[in-house]
Amino acid sequence: MIPLPRVAPGVAFSPIPIRRGMRVFVLTGAGISAESGIRTFRDAGGLWEQHRIEDVATPEGFLRNPPLVWRFYSERRQQAGLVSPNPAHHAIARLGDFLGEDLFVCTQNVDPLHERAGARGVLHMHGELLRTRCSGCDRPSFEDDRAYLDRPPRCECGALLRPDVVWFGEIPKGMDQIGAAVASCDLFVTVGSSGAVYPAAGLASHVRNFPSVRTGRFARTIYVGLERPENAHSFDECRLGKAGELLPDLFKLEG
Ligand code: NAD
Repeated sequence: MIPLPRVAPGVAFSPIPIRRGMRVFVLTGAGISAESGIRTFRDAGGLWEQHRIEDVATPEGFLRNPPLVWRFYSERRQQAGLVSPNPAHHAIARLGDFLGEDLFVCTQNVDPLHERAGARGVLHMHGELLRTRCSGCDRPSFEDDRAYLDRPPRCECGALLRPDVVWFGEIPKGMDQIGAAVASCDLFVTVGSSGAVYPAAGLASHVRNFPSVRTGRFARTIYVGLERPENAHSFDECRLGKAGELLPDLFKLEG
């Protein structure tokens, strides 16, 4: 039987020893960016910056009111220009410097704060705020930090352009890569995610139920965040506290 998670304030746990060659999967959610001043969904009871999710984060919402959706993401783009990474983003970037390609960082966040902290190769499974794509043709997405506050932009093909973010009801990006990294990790860490949004919330459960395809051993699963997540049963430990305070001492880099 899989044991219940140990849930306690982060200071009650010891740092996690990290050796070179160890494969680590880090999944981050909106909570890691909260101390940088970007609000999570949960802060406002399922609203995102005072907007209903159905209005600003679904394909139907975009079809109903493209100017509203573009205004919303344009304001988030303007905000992204003003925010900086916090100690949690920096701690993950340092872990990447130590482990190189053996660290897989997957974020549900659309903000660019991992990259601003120096992290490389971050997979944004829910897309990126500072990229735009066409809603009609298969032209590749492109970097775009412009704000479209009045009129939604159009592609050369005539269709509306849209933010390159993955909305509810759409398929997250990079699921094959994510699946391969989850299946072969030695340590799985989630930071600041309520465990309510799938498929991201199901990754820890996979790690806890299936041994690594590489080593045949079960990986350790750790949650770090303000409160017990909805998928707490998927973790060996839930270390409660602010990401910016716990992450700098979470890993003990050895050798
Ligand atoms: P969520 O809003 O559902 O949950 C955030 C979690 O973070 C909560 O459990 C909360 O307790 C925790 N938290 C809050 N402050 C924290 C802190 N200082 N330190 C540690 N934990 C803290 O977020 P989610 O699970 O990531 O899922 C929501 C979806 O929202 C994602 O798909 C994402 O695309 C989108 N989103 C992204 C951003 C962003 O890019 N920064 C912001 C809001 C929402």
